[in-house]
Amino acid sequence: MVLLCVNMKNAFFTVGPSQLFPGLKEEMVRAIDKDITSISHRGQQFMTIVADTTDKLRKIFEIPSDYRIYLQSSATEAMERIIENTVENSSSHFVNGSFSEKFFNISKMLGRHPKKNEVSRGTGFRLREYDEDNEAEVIALTHNETSTGVMLPVSDIYYVKKKNPKALLALDIVSSAPYKELDFSMLDAVFFSVQKGFGLPAGLGILIVSPAAFDKSMKLLSKGVSIGSYHSFEMMEEYMEKNQTFETPNVFYTYLLGWVCDRMLDIGVNKIREVNEAKAKYLYEFFDNNSRFKPFVKDRSSRSRTILTLETGKDTKVVMEHLKARGLIVSGGLGQEKGKIIRIANFYSHTNEDVERLISAFKEI
Ligand SMILES: *Cc1c(COP(=O)(O)O)cnc(C)c1O
Repeated sequence: MVLLCVNMKNAFFTVGPSQLFPGLKEEMVRAIDKDITSISHRGQQFMTIVADTTDKLRKIFEIPSDYRIYLQSSATEAMERIIENTVENSSSHFVNGSFSEKFFNISKMLGRHPKKNEVSRGTGFRLREYDEDNEAEVIALTHNETSTGVMLPVSDIYYVKKKNPKALLALDIVSSAPYKELDFSMLDAVFFSVQKGFGLPAGLGILIVSPAAFDKSMKLLSKGVSIGSYHSFEMMEEYMEKNQTFETPNVFYTYLLGWVCDRMLDIGVNKIREVNEAKAKYLYEFFDNNSRFKPFVKDRSSRSRTILTLETGKDTKVVMEHLKARGLIVSGGLGQEKGKIIRIANFYSHTNEDVERLISAFKEI
């Protein structure tokens, strides 16, 4: 039983938190040795870290210089900030799973009368067939629905914006960043958290805001609409102009995110995207030819390149335990698919060797 030897490392194919970025563990130790965990969030060293991290994010995503970048505690926080700061009466949401539903629910909880365009879980939207929406101040889309493994074509997302030029477009890229190249001129509020494709521990989110979205929040503020308190766009802007935050932020992860971005820029963002695509292709080919466990998303053009979902039915528990015994940790289903599917992340942190181990383990089942 070579496979069960004690010093075998676990590989986390979980959708997030997931496998740490290669070399991050060692960098965390170095950062602690450099006292990053004790420095003041009002000092020059921290301000330099924020400037450096945001600068690298701009390079990775090619974010225009007039778009703002704000630090958040999570992606869920970013959903709330977007609704609070840009919606007075109505947002419109495309819902096809648990995360897009969460965005919708946040708008509802804030009393913003959201509208829901819903399709069944495991499918995408025919975005080009939707009518213009004259009421929505914000149209919210989830690029990659992590609960089901459905990814939307970005060209369809831009089409929605072109058809609704007056609405702001909010895009959740939590589990697809930085896999897909984006045209920010078509987007107004884009967000992700770092425990997915960036391979960090959870506890930091990034929100990117267009000038139009920022102006909208100023308009709401001057009308007397509540746009929140210490994390309103206004307050975040006031502090981020100084490369600071109102609260004591996650200094350690802000530094580590800069380090991961640095590594990504060294490797090359296009290279990262190619590697991701190649592994996705390899995994889908294997499962398309697997007689027992088929991909949950039937329409090939809707299949996520970063989150693979498999129909495991009544064998779900057995499969997850079989993999776990071999140091391969995957995620189960969420909501309606709980106990029926498994979810496998495909981020840069998942090496070809890990993928081979996963495939071999499936061959044994
Ligand atoms: C994980 C995830 C979120 C939530 O992220 P948090 O960091 O937990 O707030 C939102 N949207 C999608 C698509 C996700 O995968």
